[in-house]
Amino acid sequence: MKKKGSEEMQNEPREMPDGLESQTGYCKFCGQAGIVHTLVGWSQGQVNEAVTCQCKCEESKKYAESKERVQKTKNRIMELFGSGSEKAVDERTVDIMLLAVDAIEAKELKGISLDIGQGVKAKVYKMAKESIKVERSETSKKIFEE
Ligand SMILES: [Zn+2]
Repeated sequence: MKKKGSEEMQNEPREMPDGLESQTGYCKFCGQAGIVHTLVGWSQGQVNEAVTCQCKCEESKKYAESKERVQKTKNRIMELFGSGSEKAVDERTVDIMLLAVDAIEAKELKGISLDIGQGVKAKVYKMAKESIKVERSETSKKIFEE
């Protein structure tokens, strides 16, 4: 049976869209090879990272979860304290919290609490299980001092 011309066209191997390429990398835990579609110019390290996050082995699943948790927590910090938030705090203070997330995930730190001033307090800390909590509190307490 002969295919129509148009179908034949579709079955031809297609070039990747401009600016993308297929690259092979290896899971850094189990060594399994995988293919990812990347932007041109990715280093082997970046490709391996992407392949690791797609891998189905236990270690890589844990790793991908941890990476996602860190990213979500950092996004949350940016939402609550970053330049786009309602009452942004200084960039350096935000950086401290972002660094704390890495340290907490690496189990070097349980948590931090910051007194930002003017009644604003920030807390970033590890919860039971694996999650990391971000808290912003503001007291409207007025203290008069003479
Ligand atoms: Zn793996």
